[in-house]
Amino acid sequence: MMAEAGEQNAGNWSDTSAQTGGATHAPADARIGEIVRVLHETYPDAACELNHHSAFELLVATILSAQCTDVRVNMVTPVLFARFPTPAALAAADREEVESIIKSTGFYHNKARSIQEAAARIVSVYGGEVPRTMNELLTLPGVARKTANVVLGVAYQIADGIVVDTHVKRLSARLGLTTQSDPVKVETDLMALVPQEEWVDLSHLLIFHGRRCCDAKKPNCAACSVYALCPSALPR
Ligand code: SF4
Repeated sequence: MMAEAGEQNAGNWSDTSAQTGGATHAPADARIGEIVRVLHETYPDAACELNHHSAFELLVATILSAQCTDVRVNMVTPVLFARFPTPAALAAADREEVESIIKSTGFYHNKARSIQEAAARIVSVYGGEVPRTMNELLTLPGVARKTANVVLGVAYQIADGIVVDTHVKRLSARLGLTTQSDPVKVETDLMALVPQEEWVDLSHLLIFHGRRCCDAKKPNCAACSVYALCPSALPR
């Protein structure tokens, strides 16, 4: 999940509906159903792209994915989990060894501390199991709503909220689904627009579309499946 800084209005593209040549669009609540339907059709296999075999592995991978690509995280986690396969093992690990394994994901001092302190709390408070509620997950070091939503939605199939990463934030703005920029407020707007049974899929769909078509700097509007539904579409 990549960094957000500077991606809006970057390059030769900006968030102005004027570029659509004056086309008008219905309010978000009138378009969202069709947007979700078309994105499901476009990306039938949309899913979390962080490799994992358990809720604990997913939690750690998601913490490591801050300011880093999922591809890079997927190179690091097999080594990390082979060496420290359980929360107890990771909690007791030598900090410098953990740092050396995760170094290429960036911010490795902070990330090493977060994943080891989260692992320690999972052991000491939650009996070695990653908790299944938002409130409990938010007590883990390094875990905010985005990470908690990833774990709940992907590992436990619990739709408590919507993951808002850099792609979801960018696409929600471009598609006119929110005027907010704060991720928690974006999440609130999306939760009001989309039925709860779509909350988990919606973030996968927007992340897939962001990675494969609606690039931060050069969105490929000419090839976009939701072109007709997008108030920010560049003229074809
Ligand atoms: S790529 Fe699609 S979603 Fe992104 S700005 Fe262009 S038309 Fe809108």
